[in-house]
Amino acid sequence: MRLTILGSGGMMPTKNRYPAAYLVEEGDTKLLLDCGHLTLARLIERDINMHDITAVGITHFHADHFSNLLPLMQALWVDDMILQKEHKRLTVFGPSTLEERFNKLREVMWPEPNESYGVEFVEGIVNRKVGSLVLDTFDVQHVPWFSSVGYKVSTGGLSLVYTGDLSGEQGKEFEDNVRGADLLLIEAGAVQPSKTHLTAEQAAQLAQRCSIKRVVLTHVRDDQAARVKAVIAKYPDLMTLAEDGMMVDV
Ligand SMILES: [Zn+2]
Ligand SMILES: [Zn+2]
Repeated sequence: MRLTILGSGGMMPTKNRYPAAYLVEEGDTKLLLDCGHLTLARLIERDINMHDITAVGITHFHADHFSNLLPLMQALWVDDMILQKEHKRLTVFGPSTLEERFNKLREVMWPEPNESYGVEFVEGIVNRKVGSLVLDTFDVQHVPWFSSVGYKVSTGGLSLVYTGDLSGEQGKEFEDNVRGADLLLIEAGAVQPSKTHLTAEQAAQLAQRCSIKRVVLTHVRDDQAARVKAVIAKYPDLMTLAEDGMMVDV
């Protein structure tokens, strides 16, 4: 499978680092992990037909991970209506309350009463086939006021794990879920150990404890990239810094 980094930054977009969005492809299967603001722009730039997206996985409800989901669905719906095409049902994975939160957004930003959109929301901890991929979700700690999930995507005995935003305080169960991943896509957004984000040093220690084969650090601000690269330099065979447009084969 191939991972394409569509957005390697956090909440503040810059020319080089858009908010969180990652595409995992295997054959015709296209799984979009997170859908922050500007995800649609990156899909357009890369000539990815939005109708070809098989499923979307949302890690949590911050705008830099969630805010382009409604524009994505609305664009697909209106496009199908204009072209008089049958609407393909989209599956969206995410933490509990996903559907409720999406419907609140919809009430404000998509108020047409009679437009029914074919979407399947799958909330919480699941194990599902998505095209040719197997997707497992697991609990992660980020902020206490909503739940967050991470994603393990597997095919042919190989696995890619994406953990979304992370508090520095994860339990043993979290480590069991990421252990042995062939590729761990993990945030390194914090400068200091914190209750809401992880540092590059913490990500490196976690990767070593959990026998991760390869790590891509993401959710990094431009002005923090040099600091993160200095940590990566200590683990050159293990870690890489994500850049928008980067592709990694697993
Ligand atoms: Zn974030
Ligand atoms: Zn967040």
